[in-house]
Amino acid sequence: MKQNVIPYGRQSIEKEDIEAVIAVLKSDFLTQGPGITRFQESLIKSFDSGFVSVLNNATAALYVAYKAIGVGPGSTVWTVPNTFVATSNAALLLGAEVDFVDIDPNSFCLSVDDLEVKLEGAKKSGSLPDVVVPVHFGGLPCEMSKIFELSKIYNFKVVEDASHAVGAFYNGSPVGSCNFSEASVFSFHPVKIITTGEGGAISTNSSELNEKISRLISHGITRDESLFEGQKGLPWKYEQLELSLNFRMPDILAALGESQLTRLSSNINRRLEISDRYKKAFMELPIKIQSGTTGAISSWHLFVIQTQDDIERLNLYNFLRSKGVLVNVHYIPVHHQPFYQKLSKDFYDCPNSLTYYSRAISLPMYHSLEDEKLDFVIETVKDFYLK
Ligand SMILES: *Cc1c(COP(=O)(O)O)cnc(C)c1O
Repeated sequence: MKQNVIPYGRQSIEKEDIEAVIAVLKSDFLTQGPGITRFQESLIKSFDSGFVSVLNNATAALYVAYKAIGVGPGSTVWTVPNTFVATSNAALLLGAEVDFVDIDPNSFCLSVDDLEVKLEGAKKSGSLPDVVVPVHFGGLPCEMSKIFELSKIYNFKVVEDASHAVGAFYNGSPVGSCNFSEASVFSFHPVKIITTGEGGAISTNSSELNEKISRLISHGITRDESLFEGQKGLPWKYEQLELSLNFRMPDILAALGESQLTRLSSNINRRLEISDRYKKAFMELPIKIQSGTTGAISSWHLFVIQTQDDIERLNLYNFLRSKGVLVNVHYIPVHHQPFYQKLSKDFYDCPNSLTYYSRAISLPMYHSLEDEKLDFVIETVKDFYLK
């Protein structure tokens, strides 16, 4: 990477990470070994949940979590358009119908008011969702206690897309503790909070759900004799009880994740520091910053600013890129992707998501971002507005 180029996000790999990976390479198990159990145990402690299963990526984790709670043909899944396409794609791949709920203009996360209005409408037309998927955008937890209340009234299940939110807290508990959901899904892609190169996890408090998840990660196969439908007592025997694929994480990557996890709190503290610096620096500028959600502590996966309009966004984007600040935009509203436009013309329009998108820029935000580079980003943004 050129010295003067600053990406919007990147991994940080330390000597101990490399040593942990090498140790697995020299061991007997590259996959399906003790490293997976160890990483899962560490995540259970970190998330303060009953069970965690790791997988090859968060897209697979969404697919498996949805399937395990019963999403399939005839199901309806709602999420927000301000997310990566995987959140809704995984539901479509299972044969479910998908629709969208708008975001709140301040938190950039699911709007509980909009959800309530949409649920009331759906109740009248007999089209209530089976599952709602709040996305903790940029690492800021959604208003989970309110979403949970609505889930009891309108009888839907909640799966958290917590891909951005490893290390975030809500009402004093880590995201992943699943106090207000059936399951939470995490991503360990290199731009996310901790990385395994590619990887994901599902957290849940339900042993029954966790059993299904474990099975779906490995071909729908079980070795638990109490679940066998056929002959028992054969030492080599396994049974395939349902249809699935191989979504396993190898031990090589689990070792990387376990090592990364030991630095989670210093990682989050640095992100908090960076977000505070940005917030203070931009106070006098016509820039809007993500806020809201009572009781939430963000993991600051992304630092998104909102410009005053779409033209200013384009100009600022080009200006920052020309100075080597490799800003990005999160997210193009999913329901406006060509695939989704062809799929249906009936998606709820979500005006806040469209306005949000037209003004959004993600500034550099990562654990190892040096102060000099942070200063440079801040000065460059100030130059754009003040010169
Ligand atoms: C990154 C991401 C995913 C997919 O994660 P992968 O591990 O890359 O499959 C899903 N949802 C959201 C919100 C994400 O940011």
